[in-house]
Amino acid sequence: MKLLDTHGRHINYLRLSVTDRCNLRCSYCMPEQGVEKLCHEDILTYEDLICVAEEAVAIGIEKIRITGGEPLVRRDIIPFLRAISAVPGLKQLVLTTNGLLLEELAEDLHRAGVQRLNISLDSLKQETFAHITRGGDLQRVLRGLQAAERAGFPPHKINMVVMRGINDDEVLDFATMTMDRPFAVRFIEYMPTLQAENWRTLSVSGHEILERIGKRYELIPYGSQDLAGPSRNFKIKGSAGSIGIITPISGHFCRDCNRIRVTSAGLAKGCLLSGEGLDLKPLLRSGDRTRLGEALRLIVAGKPDGHGLDNDNNDLQPFAMSRVGG
Ligand code: SAM
Ligand code: SF4
Repeated sequence: MKLLDTHGRHINYLRLSVTDRCNLRCSYCMPEQGVEKLCHEDILTYEDLICVAEEAVAIGIEKIRITGGEPLVRRDIIPFLRAISAVPGLKQLVLTTNGLLLEELAEDLHRAGVQRLNISLDSLKQETFAHITRGGDLQRVLRGLQAAERAGFPPHKINMVVMRGINDDEVLDFATMTMDRPFAVRFIEYMPTLQAENWRTLSVSGHEILERIGKRYELIPYGSQDLAGPSRNFKIKGSAGSIGIITPISGHFCRDCNRIRVTSAGLAKGCLLSGEGLDLKPLLRSGDRTRLGEALRLIVAGKPDGHGLDNDNNDLQPFAMSRVGG
């Protein structure tokens, strides 16, 4: 049966974070000094995460995205993914990664049952990439993308967070990538999760991004697939791939929200940008599966109709996205 929230939205998607740790320090995600690491006991075990996945699927979740921090840095991630992919009733298992470890892990990920990868890639220029990620190696990510293609993954989804004066000059280059290659490139509005003082100057609206691409290419609206969520999709006429716009700040985001989240510390959340959540750890420790399912239903029922955050209204408590999973 369909899992509906109180605003009539069909909730079928869980973002499950497996770690708060990361091998990059992206400037929009975490402060330069990094984030204090959660201690081992505060992180859900793989057994806990599998229980959460099973109960989520039992109440109506159909798609699970594994995220982090960087999910591929957690030890023994492959056997865990194999177990999650075997959860009865799960339709889609996907994973979001910065791509740094794909060269080594792509084949194992594919064999473990991960069906698709989202790769976060904010620049095609080494210098800009290193600046945004505070030291990341672009070539390693690009080799990772190739390794994932060779391993048999379907064409990647590539997520670019657009920031004015930092990488917005590359919007057209990213859009052009979809001409010859069947990539799904998604442009994401920068979210002020760290409450950087200059965040308004960094922000580029989805409307402006589309306008810029539209000046060069003819854009054709392209229907979202089932389970896809709040991306508005287009195809450049004659292109092999597609582009999408995700607009958490300027709109068209909450209306189509189809997801709940569970952080690596076991906090279940109905909204990315709300400070609220429900600690699942005591329920997991007690082994009471019925109450775990009820708690997940409560999170769905309590989903707000919107986050209320926009360019003028911003009283968000700062947080590192790596702690929540994006
Ligand atoms: N480490 C993995 C990665 O980067 O793909 C997964 C975790 S990361 C927190 C998940 C997503 O959140 C990434 O696509 C990242 O670009 C996005 N993200 C993080 N901070 C953001 C922000 N301030 N605004 C918009 N997107 C953000
Ligand atoms: Fe790490 Fe992903 Fe955050 Fe970048 S966006 S710091 S790769 S968790």
